[in-house]
Amino acid sequence: MNGEVSRLLSVENAKELLDSVDAFLFDCDGVIWKGEKLIDGVPETLDLLRSHGKKLVFVTNNSTKSRKQYAKKFHSLGIPVNEDEIFSSSFSAAMYLKVNDFPREKKVYVIGEEGILEELEQAGFTALGGPADGKKNIELKSNCLFEHDKSVGAVIVGLDQYINFYKLQYATLCIRENPGCLFIATNRDAVGHLTDLQEWPGAGCMVAAVCGTTQKEPITVGKPLTFLMDFLLQKYKITTSRMCMVGDRLDTDILFGQNAGCRTLLVFSGLRMSSISLFILLKVLAHVQFCHPLHFWSIHTLAISKSSRICPLTKFQHEVSELRQGPGLLPTGKGNIRPEVKTEGKAEQFQLVHAKS
Ligand SMILES: [Mg+2]
Repeated sequence: MNGEVSRLLSVENAKELLDSVDAFLFDCDGVIWKGEKLIDGVPETLDLLRSHGKKLVFVTNNSTKSRKQYAKKFHSLGIPVNEDEIFSSSFSAAMYLKVNDFPREKKVYVIGEEGILEELEQAGFTALGGPADGKKNIELKSNCLFEHDKSVGAVIVGLDQYINFYKLQYATLCIRENPGCLFIATNRDAVGHLTDLQEWPGAGCMVAAVCGTTQKEPITVGKPLTFLMDFLLQKYKITTSRMCMVGDRLDTDILFGQNAGCRTLLVFSGLRMSSISLFILLKVLAHVQFCHPLHFWSIHTLAISKSSRICPLTKFQHEVSELRQGPGLLPTGKGNIRPEVKTEGKAEQFQLVHAKS
């Protein structure tokens, strides 16, 4: 901790933020969209940033799609984004194998969806599992012996809506019985905005299941680990201090940004209040650029941490508490979600908890 305080985005510091950043890195679930629904103001905000000459990069832990599939999703939502501007944890997992010279004759078993399989195929690896094993059942009976492929050299675990007993047994046997078999987690998010109305179990629970059966910890390739940053730096050649990571989770997005030495910007659109979103960034930036009149409540919706390390939690909590008191902000009435921050284990690890008020 260096005592640096996170700040709320204001008309004044938004201009400073814009001037000091060459590339904005965006999380997707809860920042760009919720499920298939685009969050208000996103296209305008992205257009505005591009018009200022900013590079836009999309860094998502959601491994269900490949970069190609994400590019299609962006286009279907009316946002022109190129495949090479997207850095997904599915891509990251395939790249991890590639940079570590994973033998081509070995196979990869996948607990996850199409995104991982597609990225593995594009990288030239042979994969099995994934959706194909989604409907497989196991009948536990006497003399039942589960066979697995001894040539599997890596197991990748990501978000999987169709995780089942079969897949867990397969992954477990590969990790426990195949010598040197890698255990790779795309990410360990507890939950994700897989639909527009609520959060759903994230890859973290699938990874935890395999940790439980193998008693091993995985290599994690998604946020908050910075493995992907090497690819990003290689492509954009922009120093991380001139990048800003925009996300809705402290324990993945903001920590990733800070681990990499980026500036960070927390949006609350991941909470269930659509009015508190990236749209506000647009409003603030529009004000800076065009001097449009603004309602002042709008500037209290984003927190910036200039520090290369995360801000002290007590200060963040204080800010959240101040946010709640602002007019029209973070309503705490019955049924609304209010943010709380608590420490988890080590002092440097944080989790944003959504608790009903
Ligand atoms: Mg998110």
